Amino acid sequence: MKLNRMLKMGMVGGGPGAFIGEVHRKAARMDGGIELVGGAFDINPRKSKQMGRELYLNSRRVYRTYTEMIEKELKLPVGERFDFISVTTPNNWHFPIARDLLDAGFHVMCEKPMTFDVKEAKQLRNIVKKSRKVFGLMHNYTGYPMVKLARDLVRGGELGKIRKIVVQYPQGWLAQPIERTGQQQAAWRTDPKQSGGAGCMGDIGTHAENLSEYITGLKITHICADLTIFVKGRRLDDDGNCLLRFNNGAKGILHASQISIGEENNLAIWIYGEEKSLEWRQEHPNYLHVKTPDGPVQVWRRGNDYVGEKSPAAGRATRLPFGHPEAFFEAFANIYCNFADTVRANMTKTKPDPLALDFPNVDDGLRGMLFIDSVLVSTKSKQKWTAFKKA
Ligand code: NAD
Repeated sequence: MKLNRMLKMGMVGGGPGAFIGEVHRKAARMDGGIELVGGAFDINPRKSKQMGRELYLNSRRVYRTYTEMIEKELKLPVGERFDFISVTTPNNWHFPIARDLLDAGFHVMCEKPMTFDVKEAKQLRNIVKKSRKVFGLMHNYTGYPMVKLARDLVRGGELGKIRKIVVQYPQGWLAQPIERTGQQQAAWRTDPKQSGGAGCMGDIGTHAENLSEYITGLKITHICADLTIFVKGRRLDDDGNCLLRFNNGAKGILHASQISIGEENNLAIWIYGEEKSLEWRQEHPNYLHVKTPDGPVQVWRRGNDYVGEKSPAAGRATRLPFGHPEAFFEAFANIYCNFADTVRANMTKTKPDPLALDFPNVDDGLRGMLFIDSVLVSTKSKQKWTAFKKA
């Protein structure tokens, strides 16, 4: 059976002035298979309604709170109610909202880090498994075609055995205490009650951790971490350096920072094998550099047939011909495409295309929370080297 209509999307978070909710809305609708129908967009009920008006939504589908949303949506017949709901609130709300949505029978797309702590992450994993609903996690950097190509090259053995992984995510926007000026995104990220046990490491260190494991298929087994709070009076780390050990014996370095003045979103990864190495930079995402010991650097460029031939996942994640840059929105849209195809398969009780299952899920979310926990234990310990916590 085929679903002859667009998927109906609801959203929690993404109110007036919010950052990532709007990126979700634009990306989800990019390919025409998803329509935004409504949501509970803001912690302030009045602003939620305002957002609904700004988006020209039917006011009956714009709710004052997410609990009202669940209650009223469940009164609508299946097919009319939201099929899935995206959670784009600060971290402390991810778990209660995702749990209640899954319990009510909705598929869920959730922002990272998945929960507030490991306990919630384990609970959520059990809820997802029992629910048989589709749960996606927005580690958007795995949506880039050249990251998928990197994964397929590494996992296909092109680089030889992996020896070393260097991954960085420096930003500079929190170099000053802008949270004290009321800057919305800074205010909750630097508040332990809303952000969780880690600041910078939870916010962007988890992206670096996820990217390293996604591309290599390896797992971090041990961490030696050194977190710092550079800005006086701040309560959560704004910078961190980690040494890593991986389960094949590879060694690594992960550095994340929000006080590195001049850096914007300088996420980059270098993977060194016994035969070749590769380099990918988020600020230049259409290129993947492959290096050999004795030849010129090879530059793989997105949109060329040779990319799709080597990596069907990268081909599937490409919309524009070469030379017309694709970037952040498209990477989000790629996560949504695979998630939506998997939701459609679930709804029609058919098998999803194996390529559609290529989006971050609840297990990746749990790895992220275990990463944060292990980093926090290591930074406080005198022994330093800390085993990555078990799931
Ligand atoms: P933001 O402060 O800009 O927006 C948060 C929105 O959520 C606000 O509109 C707020 O009113 C609303 N909200 C809070 N609690 C709510 C509730 N209970 N019900 C309904 N709405 C509620 O924050 P942001 O920067 O957009 O970050 C939101 C989430 O997205 C965070 O978890 C963050 O880690 C994540 N994020 C991910 C990426 C990425 O690249 N994947 C980038 C930025 C942010």
